[in-house]
Amino acid sequence: MDSGQAQVLCEQYLDGVLEINKTTNLTRIDNREEALVLHIEDSLVGLPEINEAPEGKYADLGSGGGFPGVPLALYTGRDTLLVDSVKKKMRLVSELIASLGCSDAIHVYDGRIEDLAKEHKGEFAVLTARALSRLVSLLELASPLLMKKGRLVCYKADITEEEVDEAQAVASLLGMKLLSRRETVLSDGETKRTILTYEKIGPARLKLPRRVGMAQRNPLRPRD
Ligand code: SAH
Repeated sequence: MDSGQAQVLCEQYLDGVLEINKTTNLTRIDNREEALVLHIEDSLVGLPEINEAPEGKYADLGSGGGFPGVPLALYTGRDTLLVDSVKKKMRLVSELIASLGCSDAIHVYDGRIEDLAKEHKGEFAVLTARALSRLVSLLELASPLLMKKGRLVCYKADITEEEVDEAQAVASLLGMKLLSRRETVLSDGETKRTILTYEKIGPARLKLPRRVGMAQRNPLRPRD
């Protein structure tokens, strides 16, 4: 698909989300102009980082209403899995994807990321996460899902050095390494976005996934 077709499908998808949003909450942003920037444009900010990842499957962790997963799936053509534990959201998102004729390439998993990691260890070439957790938790959730040299692309607003350092302190324990960091401002002139990309460099030195909820509620610390 060329980028013109991908953009048309992105907007059709967004319109579907906004329609569903009238009755069921999929996203906080319900103004179309705002959503074009904060959902579609923002989702595509990480496109260069996704394209640099090795070939293979892509999953969007904590996908919610399908962002950034659906726009990235449409623009990259990668075999895509949207992951979220809220079953009702995933059902509505999957019906919408089917209505756009995209079910062959975009799939959903309505469960916990930790459970997906038990079933599909090392299967993914690239992962994204927007508005999901602190970096330290994202590294832990991503590590068991990634193949060697696979990438985790994190979408962050208001990143602090403390959050980056907290993740750095356990990155090598998790077999992960910070590759790049890039800042940008969206076309509204005010929304700041930081993209941090991590690479899976080897196996984690602890058994993953830990029990459901631990990565987010009880993040690893260096002494672990
Ligand atoms: N990425 C979307 C949604 C962010 S909200 C966006 O940026 O618009 C975070 C989502 O992550 C929620 O829908 C929540 O249900 C999901 N989530 C949080 N922890 C999860 C876990 N461990 N497994 C699966 N889904 C999770």
